[in-house]
Amino acid sequence: MEESVIHPDSDLSLDSPSPAEAAWAAIRANLRRRCGPRTFDGWLKPIVLTGLDADTGEVRLALPSDFMAQWVETHFAEQLLAAWKAMLPQVRTVIIEAGATPPRSAGADAAPARFAAPAEPEEEAESPADGPPPGADERGTPLEPRYSFDSFVVGKANEVAYNAARTLAEGGRVGFNPLFLHGGTGLGKTHLMHAIGSEHLRRNARSRVIYMSAEKFMYEFVGAMRAKDTHSFKARLRSADLLMIDDVQFIAGKDSTQEEFFHTMNEIISAGRRLVITADRSPQDLDGIEARILSRLGGGLVADVNPADFELRLNIIVKKLESMPQADVPEDVVMFLARRISANVRELEGALNRVVAYSMLSGRTIDMDFTAETLADLLRATQRRITIDEIQRRVSDHYRIKQAEMSSARRAREVARPRQVAMYLAKQLTPRSLPEIGRRFGGRDHTTVIHAVKQIEKLRQIDAELDADVRLLIRQLEG
Ligand code: ADP
Ligand code: MG
Repeated sequence: MEESVIHPDSDLSLDSPSPAEAAWAAIRANLRRRCGPRTFDGWLKPIVLTGLDADTGEVRLALPSDFMAQWVETHFAEQLLAAWKAMLPQVRTVIIEAGATPPRSAGADAAPARFAAPAEPEEEAESPADGPPPGADERGTPLEPRYSFDSFVVGKANEVAYNAARTLAEGGRVGFNPLFLHGGTGLGKTHLMHAIGSEHLRRNARSRVIYMSAEKFMYEFVGAMRAKDTHSFKARLRSADLLMIDDVQFIAGKDSTQEEFFHTMNEIISAGRRLVITADRSPQDLDGIEARILSRLGGGLVADVNPADFELRLNIIVKKLESMPQADVPEDVVMFLARRISANVRELEGALNRVVAYSMLSGRTIDMDFTAETLADLLRATQRRITIDEIQRRVSDHYRIKQAEMSSARRAREVARPRQVAMYLAKQLTPRSLPEIGRRFGGRDHTTVIHAVKQIEKLRQIDAELDADVRLLIRQLEG
């Protein structure tokens, strides 16, 4: 079991920060930027990372008092978990508890003194410089200002969803209600919802916008039932001008919640107010959701968000880098990330953040070696198995030569160059060692493979046609 403990005010040693320390420092820096100094200094800065259990994926964070721990739990638990997962994918839970000694002070009563006026989000909203966004609303979950239309990169995979979201947010008459966005995890559904909310509020400051996860909807509803007070819950939700419920698949099989959800939906729609719903599947694939709900959902605009293709992934990285002027990420690393981290955008973003954060913390330059090392676990997990045979076949097809030439002894340029390209690709796209690659190319020596790799690397710089061939082949092979 790997445990790491650090104190918040002890400056992180740059010599050898553990991954947990490095991640925590990066998360803190990020949170500070996002929440502004007031919230950060009052509530987040005192958090002490007391442990990371590598086996269970459990992170423990401690605060000086129960009161503070609860506040952070209520307002930041989700964000903290997401931030940790983005940095260290093995993290599963974040436990927020009381127990840490407040930094630079002795008694436990130091906390109330320093935090005499607990800054609830509503109160802070008055200070536009660092308060939460105007959408912050105790009724739902505050809108995340980072998730705007401006920061959303549009490509083939998401343009329908994006256009629908924009149209809806801009007000005026829309021919559809509700808007139902569906697609796999980490593809930008939540981002679009927040963007709709913020844009809508920007145009109609008096609008009542409520965003919440279906999970929160359920817990609040169940809580209200227990307290025998569903009236205020219903009234609150049904009075929204724009109601957004995220990840509706969560209430599959939860009958009473669905019942309530159905009535809420109906009321919003028939009053001509707007409803946006997301799910990880299309309405027809949502098992365990009542037919009448599905039919209501299907009656609006159903738009899917697809996995980003290479071009969109590349554009997303470029966009994210615009907001990290301090990060010096060379082009080959950018291409590598866009090519290899293809599962979803969240993972891509996490990988980029991790590389940048580790480089800042270790003082190392970002290059291919550093990137591969930093992302080793992720790359292993996402490796699509491209085989040497596949590479040889594709390359032979492309250059119209027989696949047997890959292993032949012929040295004529028209077969030798494609062979070098194939060796180069084998090195780039498979985990095979140089001697192994040599063996698969007619029992050649590993030095021949090294020579081929260097040769193609050099040629790609000066020969645009060859470079285009290689790019095309990589795209084809990676699917
Ligand atoms: P989902 O709700 O579909 O699971 P999210 O909206 O949470 O996905 O997106 C995951 C992360 O990826 C977020 O940080 C989001 O900002 C980012 N993201 C997803 N799609 C895009 C995009 N097209 N442009 C910019 N960032 C994106
Ligand atoms: Mg989501």
